[in-house]
Amino acid sequence: MSDLDHCPYCGVPLTGFECWKCEVEFVYEAGADKLVERRRPERSERRCIGCDLPLKHSSVLTHAWADGDNRDAYITCADCGCQNIFES
Ligand SMILES: [Zn+2]
Ligand SMILES: [Zn+2]
Repeated sequence: MSDLDHCPYCGVPLTGFECWKCEVEFVYEAGADKLVERRRPERSERRCIGCDLPLKHSSVLTHAWADGDNRDAYITCADCGCQNIFES
Protein backbone atom coordinates (compact mmCIF):
# COMPACT_ATOMS: atom_id res chain seq x y z
CA MET A 1 0.00 0.00 0.00
CA SER A 2 1.33 3.36 -0.87
CA ASP A 3 1.30 6.07 1.69
CA LEU A 4 1.12 9.42 0.01
CA ASP A 5 0.69 11.45 3.17
CA HIS A 6 4.07 10.75 4.62
CA CYS A 7 7.60 11.47 3.57
CA PRO A 8 9.04 8.44 1.78
CA TYR A 9 12.41 9.23 3.32
CA CYS A 10 11.75 9.88 6.99
CA GLY A 11 8.07 9.09 7.44
CA VAL A 12 6.86 12.37 8.91
CA PRO A 13 3.45 13.60 7.76
CA LEU A 14 3.77 15.84 4.77
CA THR A 15 2.60 19.41 4.73
CA GLY A 16 1.02 19.60 1.32
CA PHE A 17 3.65 17.74 -0.59
CA GLU A 18 6.53 19.03 1.41
CA CYS A 19 8.55 17.42 4.15
CA TRP A 20 9.67 20.00 6.66
CA LYS A 21 12.25 17.64 8.02
CA CYS A 22 14.06 16.75 4.81
CA GLU A 23 13.23 20.11 3.26
CA VAL A 24 12.18 18.32 0.13
CA GLU A 25 9.12 18.79 -1.96
CA PHE A 26 7.51 15.81 -3.63
CA VAL A 27 5.27 15.28 -6.57
CA TYR A 28 3.01 12.34 -7.12
CA GLU A 29 4.13 10.26 -10.01
CA ALA A 30 1.04 8.50 -11.25
CA GLY A 31 2.87 5.99 -13.39
CA ALA A 32 4.91 4.72 -10.50
CA ASP A 33 2.20 5.37 -7.89
CA LYS A 34 4.63 6.97 -5.53
CA LEU A 35 6.04 10.25 -4.46
CA VAL A 36 9.13 11.43 -6.18
CA GLU A 37 11.35 14.29 -5.26
CA ARG A 38 10.53 17.43 -7.10
CA ARG A 39 13.44 19.05 -8.75
CA ARG A 40 13.39 22.68 -8.13
CA PRO A 41 13.53 24.55 -11.38
CA GLU A 42 16.88 26.14 -11.83
CA ARG A 43 16.45 29.80 -11.44
CA SER A 44 18.33 31.84 -13.89
CA GLU A 45 20.62 33.66 -11.60
CA ARG A 46 21.11 37.34 -12.02
CA ARG A 47 24.65 38.45 -11.86
CA CYS A 48 25.90 41.84 -10.96
CA ILE A 49 27.16 43.84 -13.89
CA GLY A 50 29.86 45.25 -11.66
CA CYS A 51 31.42 42.28 -9.90
CA ASP A 52 29.78 39.36 -11.74
CA LEU A 53 28.64 37.76 -8.50
CA PRO A 54 25.07 36.52 -8.14
CA LEU A 55 22.83 39.25 -6.78
CA LYS A 56 21.93 38.29 -3.26
CA HIS A 57 18.72 38.66 -1.38
CA SER A 58 20.46 41.22 0.72
CA SER A 59 20.92 43.40 -2.30
CA VAL A 60 18.56 46.32 -2.17
CA LEU A 61 15.90 46.91 -4.76
CA THR A 62 15.15 50.56 -5.38
CA HIS A 63 11.83 51.09 -7.09
CA ALA A 64 11.46 53.29 -10.10
CA TRP A 65 11.43 56.97 -9.21
CA ALA A 66 12.21 56.18 -5.56
CA ASP A 67 15.29 58.33 -5.96
CA GLY A 68 13.30 60.98 -7.74
CA ASP A 69 15.09 60.65 -11.04
CA ASN A 70 15.53 56.94 -11.70
CA ARG A 71 13.05 55.90 -14.34
CA ASP A 72 14.02 52.25 -13.90
CA ALA A 73 14.05 50.19 -10.75
CA TYR A 74 17.51 49.01 -9.86
CA ILE A 75 19.18 46.59 -7.54
CA THR A 76 22.14 47.76 -5.58
CA CYS A 77 24.66 44.96 -5.31
CA ALA A 78 25.46 44.06 -1.71
CA ASP A 79 29.01 43.25 -2.71
CA CYS A 80 30.21 46.14 -4.80
CA GLY A 81 27.41 48.69 -4.63
CA CYS A 82 26.93 48.65 -8.38
CA GLN A 83 23.44 49.59 -9.56
CA ASN A 84 21.91 46.92 -11.76
CA ILE A 85 18.87 47.95 -13.74
CA PHE A 86 16.05 45.70 -12.70
CA GLU A 87 14.11 43.99 -15.44
CA SER A 88 11.29 41.78 -14.29
ZN1 LIG B 1 11.26 13.63 5.18
ZN1 LIG C 1 28.43 43.69 -7.55
